Amino acid sequence: AKDQGKSTHRFFTQELNNDMIEKTLLEMDLRQAISRDEIELHYQPQYDMKTGRMTGVEALARWNHSKKGLISPGQFIPIAEESGLILPIGLWVLETACKQAKQWQEQGLLTIRMSVNVSIRQFKQPTFIADVLGVLQRTGLDPAYLNIEITESMTTDVQYSQKILQRLHDEGIHVSIDDFGTGYSSLSYLSKFPITHLKIDQIFLQDLSSSNTAIIKTIIELAKNLSIDVIAEGVETEEQAIFLSTLRCDEVQGFLYSRPLPKLEVEKLLQTIPV
Ligand code: C2E
Ligand code: CA
Ligand code: CA
Ligand code: CA
Repeated sequence: AKDQGKSTHRFFTQELNNDMIEKTLLEMDLRQAISRDEIELHYQPQYDMKTGRMTGVEALARWNHSKKGLISPGQFIPIAEESGLILPIGLWVLETACKQAKQWQEQGLLTIRMSVNVSIRQFKQPTFIADVLGVLQRTGLDPAYLNIEITESMTTDVQYSQKILQRLHDEGIHVSIDDFGTGYSSLSYLSKFPITHLKIDQIFLQDLSSSNTAIIKTIIELAKNLSIDVIAEGVETEEQAIFLSTLRCDEVQGFLYSRPLPKLEVEKLLQTIPV
């Protein structure tokens, strides 16, 4: 029995080592991913519930690994965050998304908002505001069409967040709180931040139990009182859509309407929409 314990232990540490090696190898590849043109953005449409009009897209990163194929952001973003690679990657995402939005506008297509996810490392970077402004200047995108998505967990330092969010607001850039409802923070802090959108975490929609419906109702009510627009994401079924529309949720995003699409498919979609 003693021997068995020992070998289980050895097996376990071997597993851990393999995980660590795998991660280190991925990190090494990730380091080259941008210069090798392996990162690409997909864009998921968002719609106004009342009018049915497309209002914007959320840019979502995809890594097309030369040997492993498509790697999801759920897998590589944490590695990018730990290694600090999220700084160059995040900047590339921001610049590519803004350039794309500007290009669609120049093609005379429907003017839509471009939402970009920002990680905590980027948000805490002293050059964050300068980086964002630099991108807007280089791409020529009107700041009103950039929406930066941050999560509740990034705002624990209230003073710092307030300062940064105010700066973005003063520049005319919109900010969303992503994955709202999962951060365990008090709701009252919302009124302290100049934010324009709140995205309800999809976890509440996945199962419309009585407690989840109560949470969604409360979030929408609260946002309305603060004049903040609510976007529900992860909408997959008609039932969820009907529920959200009876609550007068402002906007929706999810597989029911569209998956995240490559650039050319967004272009095709926009070409069908009269401006
Ligand atoms: P997120 O910001 O919460 O993005 C929404 C995720 O939900 C996306 O996953 C999207 O594809 C997925 N989704 C959309 N509609 C539905 C639906 O109807 N049902 C379900 N089940 N899922 C839906 P994705 O693209 O795999 O991204 C995962 C996460 O990775 C994102 O979550 C975000 O936190 C992070 N991420 C993606 N791109 C970037 C990026 O450029 N920078 C940073 N910092 N994070 C990113
Ligand atoms: Ca997001
Ligand atoms: Ca989200
Ligand atoms: Ca999420």
